[in-house]
Amino acid sequence: MITLNHLGERNWIKHMSAALPTRPDVVEGVGDDCAVVSTGGAHDWLLTSDAVIEGVNFDTGTAYQRIGHKALARALSDIAAMGGEPRWALIDLVIPPDVELVCVDDLYSGINALAAKHQVAIVGGDTAHASQLEIHVFLTGSVPTGRFIRRSGAQVGDGLWVTGRLGGSRSGHHLDFEPRMAEGRFLREWATSMIDISDGLAIDASHLAIMSNVGFLIRADDLPLRQELRKTVPYPTAIDHALYDGEDFELLFTVPAKRTLAFQSAWSHAGLCPLTRIGTASMDAGLVCLQMADGSIQACKAEGYDHFQHGG
Ligand SMILES: [Mg+2]
Repeated sequence: MITLNHLGERNWIKHMSAALPTRPDVVEGVGDDCAVVSTGGAHDWLLTSDAVIEGVNFDTGTAYQRIGHKALARALSDIAAMGGEPRWALIDLVIPPDVELVCVDDLYSGINALAAKHQVAIVGGDTAHASQLEIHVFLTGSVPTGRFIRRSGAQVGDGLWVTGRLGGSRSGHHLDFEPRMAEGRFLREWATSMIDISDGLAIDASHLAIMSNVGFLIRADDLPLRQELRKTVPYPTAIDHALYDGEDFELLFTVPAKRTLAFQSAWSHAGLCPLTRIGTASMDAGLVCLQMADGSIQACKAEGYDHFQHGG
């Protein structure tokens, strides 16, 4: 008998998506950070959804405001990864009926503050009861027609870049991160491919590599490690955290080598977050490799968070 955890999340998506019905106005279906649909006119429409579940995406006892923030921030990050602007959201709240009203108010204050910051209107949703808390967010956004950034556009020789810092997200970052909305919009002019790091740098880089039919050589010494990691974890282990922890929600993207200087200069004048070039697109299609400080090269494990292969 084949079960979902034997198959793995990515194989299941492949298996399931082949049979999905479609329509002529679907520009991109399953397989990128958002689906893209077109109704003509000046914009393409971006569609994404995301669920956060008690015991899986947050621990029981986490402050409700932070849970609300995380639920919307994850969906926003997918809009950022397409270069889009968020617009309208629906929220489904699945909740034990004995939760106090003040807690639900706190949850929504986390959602609402982030929504207001990014001009997102919450326009509806549904409620249901269950024994654990779940928040399901469906978010739509827009991008000027044809200007969204796919995972599939990287070329051999392109630089591989990442926003912010990586690793150790469990120390709190996974609840409090700010989605890189301004950076995503800015990158419309520059990025040849883009993804947000949700499952981990190694696996998300391999998504870019497979979809773009290139490889990536990442320099271990250039990885921007989160401050807490630098202080508490020895060097080789810290690199593993940066590669495999996931939930960094930073943007990982490629820029043509010949535009490097112009890109760095434009970024530095745009008031955006810190930025690091961590590697280069290679000809080893689908392969993500790590170059260590001593020059040795090893293949990264194509591992990260798989929703069907983690207990709980
Ligand atoms: Mg994503």
